[in-house]
Amino acid sequence: MNFLFHDIDFTQFTWYCQDIMKKTLIVDLDEVLVEKAMLIRVNEFLGTNHTLEDIKGFRAQDLVPTHLKLMFLEYLLKVDFYKDAKIIPTPREIEILKRLNDKYDMSICSDYITPEVAWESGKFCGDKLALIRHNFPFMTPDKVMFVPNKKCLACDIQIDDRLSQLSPFAKQGILFTAPHNAEITDSELEKQKVIRKNSLDEIGDLLL
Ligand SMILES: [Mg+2]
Repeated sequence: MNFLFHDIDFTQFTWYCQDIMKKTLIVDLDEVLVEKAMLIRVNEFLGTNHTLEDIKGFRAQDLVPTHLKLMFLEYLLKVDFYKDAKIIPTPREIEILKRLNDKYDMSICSDYITPEVAWESGKFCGDKLALIRHNFPFMTPDKVMFVPNKKCLACDIQIDDRLSQLSPFAKQGILFTAPHNAEITDSELEKQKVIRKNSLDEIGDLLL
């Protein structure tokens, strides 16, 4: 087949080049964009009123007594995991997220496996996609990733509320402040070359 120079759509080609030259930015979902989903489900199941302050240093699901664990997991598989969960970004911060999405090759990445019901954990992907579609519609499904853990992620910048989920292959890790990580010291973060940010507003100041 003859190759004709004038067949190339240079507008498309320029857009493609701009896109692949963008830095990659991976943003966590739980406790960065949406807050307390697991705690709300635990309170609903147990009939309690625990707050984030009550679960400093451990997971909300650890509040469930051992003999009720299986029943709780079966319950989780039946309900909308994010019902009544609080969206963290303010309207102003949603605009910041949109600008980050324009400037960077941005993806939302969430771990989704609950080990005790690992084979049924795909259900949580559906809940997460519905939440993103409703609250962050500028993030299309091809910009959403579900992984069992984030240690394999390679990117320029990664934002997560768990130090253990920041990938060694991220060029810059950002720890997003949450009650459970408030006690991690600056010197500990410095050792791991991670910086802390308290809000998406602060992240916008850094990255935009
Ligand atoms: Mg998280």
